Amino acid sequence: MNISELLARNARKFPEKTAVIEGESSLSYAEVNCMVNRLASSLARLGVGRGDKVALYMPNTKEFAVSYFAVLRLGAVVVPINARLTAAEVQYILGHSEAKALIAHDLVHQVLAPLVGGSDGIWVKTGKAEGGWLSLEELIDSGDPEEIVCPAKEDDEATILYTSGTTGRPKGVLFTHRNVITVADMIVIETKIDRQSRLLHLMPLSHSAPLHLFFIGGTYVGATHVLAPAFSPDALLELVERHKITHFFGAPVAYLLTAKHPRFDEYDLSSVRCWMYGGAPLSREEVKFVASRFGAGRMMCLYGLTEAGPNGTYLSPEEHGEKAGSVGRDAALHCEVALVDENGQEVAPGEVGEIVLRGESIMKGYYKDEEKTNEVIKDGWLYTGDLARRDEDGYIWIVDRKKDVIISGGVNIYPKEVEDVLRTHPAIADVAVIGVPHPEWGETAKAFVVLSQPLEPLAEECKRFLSDKLADYKIPRLYEAIAELPRNATGKVLKQVLRMWETTAQG
Ligand code: ATP
Repeated sequence: MNISELLARNARKFPEKTAVIEGESSLSYAEVNCMVNRLASSLARLGVGRGDKVALYMPNTKEFAVSYFAVLRLGAVVVPINARLTAAEVQYILGHSEAKALIAHDLVHQVLAPLVGGSDGIWVKTGKAEGGWLSLEELIDSGDPEEIVCPAKEDDEATILYTSGTTGRPKGVLFTHRNVITVADMIVIETKIDRQSRLLHLMPLSHSAPLHLFFIGGTYVGATHVLAPAFSPDALLELVERHKITHFFGAPVAYLLTAKHPRFDEYDLSSVRCWMYGGAPLSREEVKFVASRFGAGRMMCLYGLTEAGPNGTYLSPEEHGEKAGSVGRDAALHCEVALVDENGQEVAPGEVGEIVLRGESIMKGYYKDEEKTNEVIKDGWLYTGDLARRDEDGYIWIVDRKKDVIISGGVNIYPKEVEDVLRTHPAIADVAVIGVPHPEWGETAKAFVVLSQPLEPLAEECKRFLSDKLADYKIPRLYEAIAELPRNATGKVLKQVLRMWETTAQG
């Protein structure tokens, strides 16, 4: 089985079933499949073939769905790029992936103007052909509708997802068809997505959870996808009500923002069977707050990372009581989890260890980087770089990312723990804690805070607030108020940017 065949199979089995809805338009599985064949045949005519890389620079649209499957149908490899990335960021990915073609959406293609014509690649965009761009619609219309049988085998390469780069240059994470189908299989079983389900896609389909878990998961069983180009709390509330959505996957920040929407209670969200969140930490208090709005019995936390497909662990709706804030006890289906020490030995409950994952969804490797692949995959186990401890019931609580741990005077400070407490301060809207160089202790903690109301003197007030909540050595000595935290295209805080600011300020 390959990913393309999932679509072809649906088109044969239930051709009339609605596959995608975007705005006022919708396409059945048969229509999508027909467009996929047409586009694939046109791309083949342009020289795209098995194993070639084709980048997609598109928000969540029906054209994304058609292009994604058309590339796969040829046995080519899809490289989805977040449509919020800049020309320079896209250029890096195009160069690194050696993409032969790029398909962009009219909504965003202007960003790439400096790149078009600069290489001999194939440039396609939705809308009319102009200035070096071919028209996607013309390629579809002029293509051959005859069914193309995808030549890909399960272990062939299907996609390269570039990580969002919170820890450095984006890495090209390479997945086979088998990797992706394993993730799809897991999610439909764990969250009961079926043919009657209606999935709302507001998170960028260029990332592993929205794409593999949710989009391919839904396609796996022939569900209906509701696509919208961008997230906003209004879009979430309106589309859920309008389309009687049954499943939603969102980053924690999407839930936090929507939960605070002034007209939240006016919307009927009762159709939703499962609200999935993950991809970034959410403190226990935040989970409780979100669950109080969206319904604890319907919340599901997914922990994972791009390299894992993103299969990892999950906290089911039934477990959202006292274990809210944990990422669950059990590994997702087709996956194993362990917490290990520096020597790869499992740590005892209560002790901090690194989360390692094993299973069929784990990436084939980093594209063109065997060394880095071997650094993170050992004996089949993926070293996630996430530190966590199990409680007495075996539940896993993420402590922090290994790279973010601050070592001050020989003891570890986990920034996440400090951030979680500071975030409960009524005047603090957002916070990030990093380690900055200190002549005696090696490093000391510094908190960057975004204030929702004045707080003066800042350092004294924060320290006073933390004094009865955290051990003295964990309390940051330095504080700085900033207008907003630097975040990447998926909303994650870019700590390396904060560190860079700090170095520049000191220098
Ligand atoms: P890069 O690898 O380039 O730094 P990134 O960090 O954004 O990019 P992702 O794969 O998107 O890469 O993020 C995975 C990380 O997100 C995990 O390693 C973990 O630290 C965090 N994470 C994911 N899910 C959860 C969750 N449910 N709770 C807490 N943290 C999570």
